[in-house]
Amino acid sequence: MTRTIYVNGQYQPYAEACVHAEDRGFQFGDAVYEVCEVRRGRLVDETRHMQRLARSLSELGIPQPMSKGAWSRVMRETIRRNRVGDGLVYLQVSRGARPRDFLFPPHDVKPTVVCLARRVSPARLEAAAAEGIAVKTMPDTRWARCDIKTVMLLPASLAKEAARGEGAKEAWFVDDTGHVTEGASSNAWIVDREGRLITRQIDNAILRGITRTTLIDLLRREGVELVERVFSVEEAQAAREAFITSATNFVMPVVRIDGKPIGNGAPGLLSLKLRAEFHTAAEHAER
Ligand code: PMP
Repeated sequence: MTRTIYVNGQYQPYAEACVHAEDRGFQFGDAVYEVCEVRRGRLVDETRHMQRLARSLSELGIPQPMSKGAWSRVMRETIRRNRVGDGLVYLQVSRGARPRDFLFPPHDVKPTVVCLARRVSPARLEAAAAEGIAVKTMPDTRWARCDIKTVMLLPASLAKEAARGEGAKEAWFVDDTGHVTEGASSNAWIVDREGRLITRQIDNAILRGITRTTLIDLLRREGVELVERVFSVEEAQAAREAFITSATNFVMPVVRIDGKPIGNGAPGLLSLKLRAEFHTAAEHAER
């Protein structure tokens, strides 16, 4: 099967899909993106992902390239053409292509839009969750607007690469007061000795994860106590459980932080329960 990618209004074969060399996403990181889970052919939490995309665009003053209905058609068509049952959809919107200039282009320059879909093996994800993952902490060297989902992902890429060098699947960023902000591509959570869930409060230092928001709905429904506050690396290492959330990992247990085992070193029971129940709280779109 030939994979196809949507670029600026056209579905193109994978090998031919390209954007202009002077695209501002390429030159300035002047672009935003979204990653949405596809489960049994359906988009998960599409409404919230599209709301966050609209917010990211508006914070950067990039015009909305198409209507909600058009987005929905492009995503579904990309999923269909690539025959994705379980996997993800990736959307990216840049401010467009124009001879290099720090200043914004005139209003008639159209944003560049890319949409691709790819399969992810549920079995591999479940195997990872059954084992749990290790994380490595490192200083948060990102900018002061991590609430916007931009493609400026170099600090995240460097951090994940360094984590991999030590056998860890995710990096947890730590601010200059010693508190965990979030994962390189996930939100960070711990469970304290009393069974309360703790995750950092929303501010400009972290991305408001859609998985985080939907999990909070689930916690309310289940009556699990949640405290939104900062926590230190030491507190996380002494926690009963730890996990990360993201659209591609749902709830993924963390079993080691900087080599130190969390709890008894196996995925926590609450983490696994929340993972098993997560999709009952999520929105599943029509095809
Ligand atoms: N924080 C960062 C920095 C991320 O890149 C991601 C993944 N997009 C998340 C949190 C989790 O967000 P979501 O649950 O919407 O995937």
